[in-house]
Amino acid sequence: MTEKKTLGMYDSFVRSGRETRSTHYCAGCGHGIIHKLLTEAMVELGLQDRTIIVNPIGCGVFGYYYWDCGNVGAAHGRAAALGTAINRSRKDAVVISYQGDGDLAAIGFNATFQAANRGEHMAVIFVNNAIYGMTGGQMAPTTLEGMKTKTSPFGRDPLTAGFPMHICEVLNQLRAPVYIARVSVADTKRIMQAKQAIRKALEIQRDGKGYAFVEVISPCPTNLGVDPLKAAQFCIDQMEKEYPLGVVRDNSATAEPRKPDEAKPTPKAFFEEDAHQAPPAEVDPSARELRLKFAGAGGQGILSLGICVAEAARLEKRFTSWYPSYGPEQRGGSASCSVVISGTPIGSPAVDHPDVLVCMNQPSYERFVKDVNPGGIVIVDATVPLNVPAPDGVRVFAMPAIDLSIRLGVPKAANTMMLAALLKLNATGLKRDHLLAALYASFAKKPALIEKNRVLVEEAEKWIAENMKEEC
Ligand code: SF4
Repeated sequence: MTEKKTLGMYDSFVRSGRETRSTHYCAGCGHGIIHKLLTEAMVELGLQDRTIIVNPIGCGVFGYYYWDCGNVGAAHGRAAALGTAINRSRKDAVVISYQGDGDLAAIGFNATFQAANRGEHMAVIFVNNAIYGMTGGQMAPTTLEGMKTKTSPFGRDPLTAGFPMHICEVLNQLRAPVYIARVSVADTKRIMQAKQAIRKALEIQRDGKGYAFVEVISPCPTNLGVDPLKAAQFCIDQMEKEYPLGVVRDNSATAEPRKPDEAKPTPKAFFEEDAHQAPPAEVDPSARELRLKFAGAGGQGILSLGICVAEAARLEKRFTSWYPSYGPEQRGGSASCSVVISGTPIGSPAVDHPDVLVCMNQPSYERFVKDVNPGGIVIVDATVPLNVPAPDGVRVFAMPAIDLSIRLGVPKAANTMMLAALLKLNATGLKRDHLLAALYASFAKKPALIEKNRVLVEEAEKWIAENMKEEC
């Protein structure tokens, strides 16, 4: 058995169980030094068993092959969001987000900014080498003015590409961060200073004091196209001019540690607080799975109608899912939702082939009618021309939901008219009491609407009994 080389790190880089070498980083890359500094701080502070590192997308993506502690991988730019989730569900954890400049300062900037503004309890190690390393040397938000990259072959021009982003200074506008510092690993003296800053960021986590951000200027010889010494010198001569080193903020002495009872709500507590009073679902293999699609234009209440049916199914102790879909223009654009009702756990909430289709406008009818399962039911607003035939064996009913709601004096209640049609045709298989209870519950905050909708349902049912017939 070989002696362990560095506490807190695996002895070799073993990927896919086959490849074994000391590192995947290029010669002269700053990442390896930063990994080591982070590991040393974690071990010296006795935090190895509590630490969860959120690994990025970028050259640092394989951090979990190096750090012998808790590790997770985040989607590109989403380390701050994932760190937030861990922080809130594992209050004993020391959360570290490790990210490069493409990941943090470009696609992940908003997530970073918001997490810093919320003062999430995490240490962020931000590796700034002024370029996208892993993808081959494209311009990053931190690329220096005039610096040539694959995507700025004539040098970064602020007129078209903006100026280099100073992330520490931007975050320093916020009130919540406890510690913000910029350091470098370009030479020994700087590496020692970097170690102090990283250690400080971890101490803040150990003590539950809040958000700490350490930017590390780091050489990338490969994409600079120079040897490691020249790359390190570039950091000192060029990058430090743009990004001066130093502690930008240190409130660690006065920051109050988080008390356990003041901790932010865990996801469990959050959902329990918000839980609906419907009974839990019960397995009933005899209840066949019913898949429904509700579609129309945003603002027609089509998503609310789907929720109402899903809530009724919950009251009936069925397994239920509600899955909305709408374009960027939710109000006025197309909107739809899929609802699945089942006596057994649901595999997928997506409904490509509905048993029941409710359409409030022409585009949604034309788009979805051909996908309805044989034996299925389509209820479509009577204003829609039925110019697309339904598949064989599918029953189509035209319901003047929009006209009727206008005639009854509540133009926004076309969705309630559709609910009445679902009831009358027994299209959902759910009990009338449950559907109405779910409808009334949706107006819990506007009691006057409950009575109004009760009358509307009755009127709509009367009309349906006297007039509605199958169209084809
Ligand atoms: S491309 Fe640059 S940042 Fe990436 S591993 Fe190589 S030297 Fe390091």
